[in-house]
Order: sequence, then structure tokens, then C-alpha cells
Amino acid sequence: MTSSSTDTPAPVLVLVPGAAGAPADGSDPFHIADATAPQLSITDLVVTRGDGIFETIGAFDGTPINVGPHLARLARSASLLGLPAPDQEAIAAAVDASIEAHADVPELTIRVMYTRGIEGNGVPTCWIDAHVSDDWAPYRAGIRVATLDRGLATTVFEESPWLLQGAKTLSYAVNMAAVREAKSRGAQDALFVATDGYVLEGPTSTLLVRRGDAYLTTPVSAGVLPGTCVGSLFEALQKEGHEAREQLMSVEDVATSDGAWLLSSTRLAAPITHLDDVELPVDPELTAHFEAILTGRV
Ligand code: PLP
Repeated sequence: MTSSSTDTPAPVLVLVPGAAGAPADGSDPFHIADATAPQLSITDLVVTRGDGIFETIGAFDGTPINVGPHLARLARSASLLGLPAPDQEAIAAAVDASIEAHADVPELTIRVMYTRGIEGNGVPTCWIDAHVSDDWAPYRAGIRVATLDRGLATTVFEESPWLLQGAKTLSYAVNMAAVREAKSRGAQDALFVATDGYVLEGPTSTLLVRRGDAYLTTPVSAGVLPGTCVGSLFEALQKEGHEAREQLMSVEDVATSDGAWLLSSTRLAAPITHLDDVELPVDPELTAHFEAILTGRV
């Protein structure tokens, strides 16, 4: 990695023209571009229709976490949207290049964007940007969470796949509106609830609940994203001898639990201090253990 002499290191942009396969002309599969210059066409379908997918990867002390699972999920989202399968090898190399070109910082956010491309051309547009992560320390100390109706049942993935629940699409305006609504209610984040009463996920995070010695999360079949963080936490917890599995849970189940967190790749494990007006137990030591697993700093 290079070092920067400025206080705020500049973001790095990597363009991946051959993201769905090697470029036909044999040129490089990716190249660093000017992150401050205009790069995207106004006729790209992500601009006109919000038609695309993405991944957000955290890198800690220069090491990106869970790149394989993130790119596998990108491929799953591509399949759900009928997009060409992304070239995971080229994108993984471009992720490494983005970190290499960025100034050394403790926490980087790396976004992998993959769109349906310019209208009529059929070739996905793909780019990667690496930028210094926001300061998530207050979030990691504890958050108030508001439950919000998602207006869809847990059967949506099976029964209405065109609603794209479970795909990480670039149509996140609804997710961002949910965070604003939660903030207007005095919370820091939201937890979506299905019309059949089961809790789902946050607008940008996975729910983790502890009940006694069991760690639980919403089943992917209920139309939530398969979280990479919950994947690595479950693997670690199972190795430690704990029970860790998917289960449908009501709001009451979470409110009466022994602890709950919202998990995501850059914010890590944010303990829920209050679910609406109900106070939840918080275990800073356990949260620190989760953080060590999720940053690879074990
Ligand atoms: N669910 C949604 C809707 C998300 O947007 C995210 C992450 O952005 C997650 C869950 C958590 O996924 P991960 O643990 O891979 O960061």
C-alpha cells in the first residue's frame, strides 16, 4: 500500500471492464481510474432504473474480509436479477488492487458495483471504490432500533421472486428511507418485520439474537440477504461448541432475548440496547469477541 501525505486519504477507483468475462480485445481486466472524474454514463441502466447489484466489503489493517463469500453473494444477486455471471477472479484481483493503491488506514470500505450497463448494449458496468470507513465507534457501542413493517410476508422469496428480496440490489432508496424513519423515531437503525409477524433484517444488516447458549438469525428463505458476517460468526460459534442456526422469530422473541445485534461488514456487530421501548441486555465482552472475529483480528 502507498501512504498519503494529506489528512484525508483520497478514495481509489478501479474500473473492471471485463467483469462478466475477459475483455474481448485482450486488454487488462481492470485499471485504476480517477475517482474524482465523471466515469458513469447517464444512460447506464443503474442511473435510469436503479438496475444493478453491489457488495460492501470491509478491510481491516489492509486485509479484506470474506471476499469469497461477498463475491459468491454478488453472483447470487446477479442470478436473481438475470444479469451475466460476474468474473469473480477478476473482481477479487481488482479489490486487492484498490487496497494496494489506497493509503494505509485501519478501516477501509470497499464497494463492488455491478450494473446492467448502458441501455441496449448488454454488457454490465463494474467498478470498485475504496474509501476510508465512517467512524462506527458510537454504533458499535450500542444502538436503539425501531421495528418497521416491511409490508411483505416471509413467503415472498418463494412466491414473488420478482420483488428481489434477498438480492443486494442498487435500489436501496427504500432501505435508506427506513433508516430515516427509524431516526425520526429516536432510534439509530431499523429492524424490518414481515406481515406475518416475524422479524427479518435491518436495512443494511443481519439480525443476530442470543437465547441462552443458542445464537439465532432469520432464515435466508424468509427473503433476507445471506449475511457474510453472520456466516463467519456462526462458523466461529459452532467451533466454540455453541448452537448457531436460522430460526423464524417474533418481535417478542427478540425483546425477551439475552442479547441482539445488527451485523454488517463495515459496522461489524452493533449491540441493540433498545428494541422500540424495550431495553435489551448488552454484553460488551461478547460484542468485542464478535468484533475480533469479524475483523480477522483474533
Ligand atoms: N442485509 C442487508 C439488507 C444488507 O444490506 C446487509 C449489508 O449490507 C446485510 C444484511 C449484512 O450483510 P454482510 O454481513 O455481508 O455485510
